[in-house]
Amino acid sequence: MRARINVKGIVQGVGFRPFIYRIAVEDNLRGYVKNLGDAGVEILLEGPENQIKKFLIGLREKRPPLAQIYEVTVAKLHGEDEHSNFAIHKSSSETEHSGSVVPPDVAICPECLTELRQHSDRRHDYFFITCTNCGPRYTIIEQAPYDRENTTMRDFQMCSFCQGQYADPLDRRFHAQTVACPVCGPKAYLTTNKGEPMDIKDSVREAGKLLAEGHILAVKGYGGFHIATSTTQDKPIVRLRQAKHRSQKPFAIMARELKTARTFAEVSKAEAQLLTSYTRPIVLLNKSPNYPLSSLIAPNLHNVGVMLPYTGLHYMLFDEVDEPAFVMTSANPPNEPIVADNREALKALGTTVDYFLFHDRNIAHRCDDTVLRTHGKRTVFIRRSRGYAPAPILLKKKAERCVVGLGGELNNTSCILQQDKAFISQHIGDVENIETRNFLENTVKHLIHLTNSKIQAIACDLHPKFTTTRLAQEMAQENGWQLFQVQHHYAHVAALMAEHDVEEMIGICCDGYGYGVDGEAWGGEILLCQKDRFGFERVAHLEPQPLVGGDLATRYPLRIAAGILRKRPGIEDWLLQNSRHFPHGEEEVNVVLHQLERRTGTVQTTSCGRVLDALAAVLGICHERTYEGEPAMKLESTAHGGKDILRLKPRTDGGVLDTTQLLMKVFEERQGQSVGDLAYSAHAYLARGLATLAIEKAQENNVKFVGFSGGAACNEILATVMRRITEKEGLRFLVHEVLPSGDGGVSFGQAVAAGFSKN
Ligand SMILES: [Zn+2]
Ligand SMILES: [Zn+2]
Repeated sequence: MRARINVKGIVQGVGFRPFIYRIAVEDNLRGYVKNLGDAGVEILLEGPENQIKKFLIGLREKRPPLAQIYEVTVAKLHGEDEHSNFAIHKSSSETEHSGSVVPPDVAICPECLTELRQHSDRRHDYFFITCTNCGPRYTIIEQAPYDRENTTMRDFQMCSFCQGQYADPLDRRFHAQTVACPVCGPKAYLTTNKGEPMDIKDSVREAGKLLAEGHILAVKGYGGFHIATSTTQDKPIVRLRQAKHRSQKPFAIMARELKTARTFAEVSKAEAQLLTSYTRPIVLLNKSPNYPLSSLIAPNLHNVGVMLPYTGLHYMLFDEVDEPAFVMTSANPPNEPIVADNREALKALGTTVDYFLFHDRNIAHRCDDTVLRTHGKRTVFIRRSRGYAPAPILLKKKAERCVVGLGGELNNTSCILQQDKAFISQHIGDVENIETRNFLENTVKHLIHLTNSKIQAIACDLHPKFTTTRLAQEMAQENGWQLFQVQHHYAHVAALMAEHDVEEMIGICCDGYGYGVDGEAWGGEILLCQKDRFGFERVAHLEPQPLVGGDLATRYPLRIAAGILRKRPGIEDWLLQNSRHFPHGEEEVNVVLHQLERRTGTVQTTSCGRVLDALAAVLGICHERTYEGEPAMKLESTAHGGKDILRLKPRTDGGVLDTTQLLMKVFEERQGQSVGDLAYSAHAYLARGLATLAIEKAQENNVKFVGFSGGAACNEILATVMRRITEKEGLRFLVHEVLPSGDGGVSFGQAVAAGFSKN
């Protein structure tokens, strides 16, 4: 039999052709495999029919971990056999690169890990052991196509041993651009915090020992530096918190292995799968009841961010110590991107750390770790970055135009929409200063180049003052691109609709702040989105509440509580009793009260985040927000395991969910009831109220899908209660599955809103 097989998917730059070569040779088939210009692969096979059938099964079942197959077409050919062996052809169009050729970074594979431990192996104890199936990818590529000379591995001339493997189609390292060994590859070395080299033979294991002794180290990885220290001692964590000016923000940790993670956290089957997957994300795990690690790692939260080692270096750090885990937090100066360059690291981190564990391979593109959590069996992305970016998200339809979305202001990403593929960048961060703005701009340009995109339009937020809005305007003008400004919450819902390929949705969008079409501060919105009516209609929202002092109220949530409870008798006394939680004490409380009375210095907001903040303040859970989402996260942690004791009936007159009665009730009950139950009851009220409104609007408009997006959608209690109520009414309840529900998904929403617009 003779057959031509076309494979579409992520099949270039992922070891796919050598894999095809191997299974074809194993099955005694003749012919060839070659890359196509559209990022697909063509295979010609000659041989017995049953062998070809076996090949087709192996194609799907044994494919390399990075490869994703979307479509396989088989055409039987006539004529005589033409091939006497099987070969890998270099196609003429191969240089015409396309988006699929850039895979994300991949955790060390089982074969490499075995070799790392094998005394007889040339790469025994080699911290940078990789192969076609594993190692850095996106973070080393300077330009397309993905060849060694276009990566930061260019600086390392392969030795004859490595070269031999690189050239052998039957070797696991055939065309592995990262192939290296202790003789020819990158070297790791320890220095003092001033960058003075230390004379140590086994730098990596020595670094592990220093960590266990309570020192703070900067450790260079694939996409940037981590700051690492012990998890069992308070002292270094206190030091680290002081140096980083982070009093409360949780640190991620790296556990020695899955078994060890189970000694301090509860790990479900779904979570174990995520932890051990080749993307090796940080997974937020519920702390075990007898949590033995330092309470300073994730203060007052019910969960802790845990990842497993994902490079040879990480595994070796644990070799000669007993520590169950190390703190491994992204090394980034305040409001700046993760540090990736050795000199930059010395300058930025020298006063924070005691030692540096460097290596001499440059990082082309910084990339933070991915953060996930689960709601039951469902995966919820909090940050989609290493291991995922920039692998495309596949849509069911092709866009009208090629668009780049620049995202919002906080927790930003960018996105390129090219036909039916959306390439979302790694985590960029908060675009509030020049460093992150430059990082965003460079990332966008790099992604446009890597995906060979012919951009026609650029999309950004509606907010006139966002750095990203100005950048979009500049880039639109410079390149003659069409500019689309997309309302923040509509971008969230549009993202959810595109992810699930639905054309109508009642979208519940809850987050902190988004610029509304009326210029007001939105954040607890229910939007009706239908394809035949382009755009959206705001059909319901949370009750607008005053934010006293604007941004100050976001930092000090008692100000929001004061605003919501302003009409309640006796509130003045309560605020004065709590004046220690205002930086300027009683004087400040009096100003707040005065402003509330005169209605000066306040803006109105429908933000869901601010209501959660106010609840956290009233319940005494959090009085100052030191990191984004802190009061709401601590409120959820307090509510974990609680029950709905208030059973408060939502008031939803005129499509506005009453939040004043909720705060009043919680305020009244705050001393007589358990804080956990009250926190849970408040969640239940908001979820019931929003779901009731969404169901009502869905029925009115004959829409079958209710979606939940925005930063608050990663809250498990809100999502679970909403789902239960919505599904009981026979409606489909949709949440994000492959994108963050928070602002990391906004660039994608902007891109699809603009890309599918008829305007
Ligand atoms: Zn490997
Ligand atoms: Zn070598």
